[in-house]
Amino acid sequence: MDIDKIREEFPILKQEVYKRPLVYLDNAATTQKPRVVIDAISNAYCTINANVHRGVHHLSQLSTEGHEGGREKVRQFLNAKSIKEIIFTRGTTESINLVASSFSEAFFNEGDEVIISAMEHHSNIVPWQMLEGKKGIKLKVIPITPVGELDMEMFRSLITERTKLVSVAHVSNVLGTVNPIEEIITIAHSHNVPVLVDGAQGAPHIKVDVQALDVDFYVFSGHKIYAPTGVGVLYGKEEWLDKMPPYQGGGEMIGKVTFEKTTYNELPFKFEAGTPDYVGVMAMTEALNYVEGLGIENIAAHETELLQYTTEKIKAIEGVVIYGNSPHKSGVISFNVEGIHPYDIGMLLDKQGVAVRTGHLCAQPLMDILGIPGVVRVSFALYNTKAECDKFISALQRAIEICK
Ligand code: PLP
Repeated sequence: MDIDKIREEFPILKQEVYKRPLVYLDNAATTQKPRVVIDAISNAYCTINANVHRGVHHLSQLSTEGHEGGREKVRQFLNAKSIKEIIFTRGTTESINLVASSFSEAFFNEGDEVIISAMEHHSNIVPWQMLEGKKGIKLKVIPITPVGELDMEMFRSLITERTKLVSVAHVSNVLGTVNPIEEIITIAHSHNVPVLVDGAQGAPHIKVDVQALDVDFYVFSGHKIYAPTGVGVLYGKEEWLDKMPPYQGGGEMIGKVTFEKTTYNELPFKFEAGTPDYVGVMAMTEALNYVEGLGIENIAAHETELLQYTTEKIKAIEGVVIYGNSPHKSGVISFNVEGIHPYDIGMLLDKQGVAVRTGHLCAQPLMDILGIPGVVRVSFALYNTKAECDKFISALQRAIEICK
């Protein structure tokens, strides 16, 4: 990949912050957008904007074609069997909430169990926890090993005849660990338990084939894969989605409405109440085309190189502790420097133009397990360079000097 050329396509990367060139290393929180994505939004509003599905007029048809074309793009991106299995949501969080609400309505009884893991983002904890109160279900948690991998023996032992669902991250947003989802799915399926994979940090970096994985639900957010905010995906096997009740009521999701009785629309529309973010979907189509054009394997190889390069350099700095040392790791490094609060490091990096994330990273239970208030996290995307990694390392050394 020609990174210099790629960087030209991301207008925001030309910015200066505090009169220094921006070094953006907060990509696990959200990625920057290439010109094709920004243009897609502008073009949609300048040329075809009209509400989808309902209009017979020309613009509405163009808009519907763009929106439904986006669904076909996502189907192909995930290798789903049918567009009926692709539900558009606002993002990973909404996708998980949809499954928690609707799957539990159809299949959970008091005393049933859901297995998650110790490294989950809050959005794959809280929706299930809410069901403990509402439905009387029990949440079980797969512990992690000292290097930050899932304890698979413990996972096996947690499954009982009351287990109704396993819901785990593809890649940890804190530890960077790439979880063995193939193995998790095989084990869970041998007990007839379906699996949801939170792909927020997976889909942007790893080629996902939902049919090869045989995964029951796979979710991700557009904004973490170079698409706009406010649009995301829920893939669900048709056999499950068919049996699940609608999540929200309103326009689009109905078949026929009378005051006596309402029938629901077919898949995928049954789960898409109200006007969808069709402009976001059109822009996400461009983002996925962009990623596929570069090749997700090439992107991953580049990010892995940056990960290894930076890990070596950061390890050489005295007092640095890295959280997550699995050999199966994606482009995320979470760390602390002994005796310095992560916020102080984050602020001092920012003043030098380096954007990183600090805090609990929406994974407070994991922070409790690690016995820390938070971390500093750098996370890589396709446009980052080794020169930026060097700038980050020298900015970190400067920050440590200041704090000493
Ligand atoms: N799951 C993981 C692993 C994440 O990293 C994130 C966001 O950081 C989410 C879920 C939530 O994503 P969103 O806020 O886009 O819904």
